[in-house]
Amino acid sequence: MKQETIAIHAGDKKSENDVISPIHLSTTFKREKDGSYPNTDIYSRTSNPNRRALENTMARLEHAQVAAAFSSGSAAAASVFRALGKNDHAIVPTDMYHGIAKAIKNIFIPSAMDISFVDMTNLAELKDAIKANTKLIWIESPSNPLLKLTDINAVIKIAKSAGAILAVDNTWMPPNMQDVLAMGADIVVHSSTKYLAGHSDVIGGIVVSKYDDEFFKKIRLIQINEGAVPSPFDCWLILRGIKTLSYRMRGHNSNALKIAEYLENQAQIEQVLYPGLASHPQYEIAQKQMAEYGGMLSILLKGGEAVAMKLAANLEIFTRATSLGGVESLIEHRASIEGPDSLTPNNLLRISVGLEHIDDLIADLAQAFDKL
Ligand SMILES: *Cc1c(COP(=O)(O)O)cnc(C)c1O
Repeated sequence: MKQETIAIHAGDKKSENDVISPIHLSTTFKREKDGSYPNTDIYSRTSNPNRRALENTMARLEHAQVAAAFSSGSAAAASVFRALGKNDHAIVPTDMYHGIAKAIKNIFIPSAMDISFVDMTNLAELKDAIKANTKLIWIESPSNPLLKLTDINAVIKIAKSAGAILAVDNTWMPPNMQDVLAMGADIVVHSSTKYLAGHSDVIGGIVVSKYDDEFFKKIRLIQINEGAVPSPFDCWLILRGIKTLSYRMRGHNSNALKIAEYLENQAQIEQVLYPGLASHPQYEIAQKQMAEYGGMLSILLKGGEAVAMKLAANLEIFTRATSLGGVESLIEHRASIEGPDSLTPNNLLRISVGLEHIDDLIADLAQAFDKL
């Protein structure tokens, strides 16, 4: 079955004459007279029909065996690090989602976890960082917010020869756009808040694992016994978003490419960072590993922070807000949201290209440039 069909039907466990599945709010499930449970559900933190529907659908969309849904992308990511043993070492990229980097620096490393930051675009640096006890390599490609690409095939080879698990934060690359499990990665993590849910109305995250192995069982234990689980309504909303994911992504990808091409020709632009442009420094890697180039791009403005701020303020259809992956276009000055230890250039604006008509988005950008 193809992605569009799986997305619409895999999660539906219909009862009565429902066309879509209901929201099961019950926290607890009844035993039969003989003490047995008629299905797998006992207590809703452990499992419930809506979460199972979401997890099964995501596992099928990623061609994986299992998935575990969490109450945020951050909780999903944390579970992967927390599943490591006390003598295990992990390697992460310097350019990565700032919230996870913050947890690594301020929570995991201070509690004695051994985690190294490397520039993942530099494979020699990655190889040098490998230790005998390296158990996990974490990558994010394209990276946030510089859209640097990691050569995923090359990192998979390095991870395999080190005997390490390769986990990919594929939030910016929903199923079908960058099939890292098929390439040989072990785990995919998504912030479901973004493209999966797609409407900026629910926070969630999910860990998808190619195999139901020991490492995943530990993640499942963390999910159930630490309990950072999404509510049944959250799961229902995310699954509803997933039903239109493929169609929304076509619009995000096509609008983003057109906007990137338009921006590249503006006099006030220093650089457009978008993997679908031939000018991207790693365009060849993009063509090798990305089926589509995504809905996210960043721009560097001539004239520094003041001009970047003014351009964002001049826009009327693009909303100035953090986050990404919703149907509405957003624009954001990343350095100010990331705070004082941010490495992001202060003339950078990050754009989440939405599904408004491309002509209206370009007209909005044109009037914002005119007013600079
Ligand atoms: C938003 C995001 C996260 C964190 O997800 P939350 O749902 O906000 O906790 C992780 N990784 C990437 C790439 C993101 O964009």
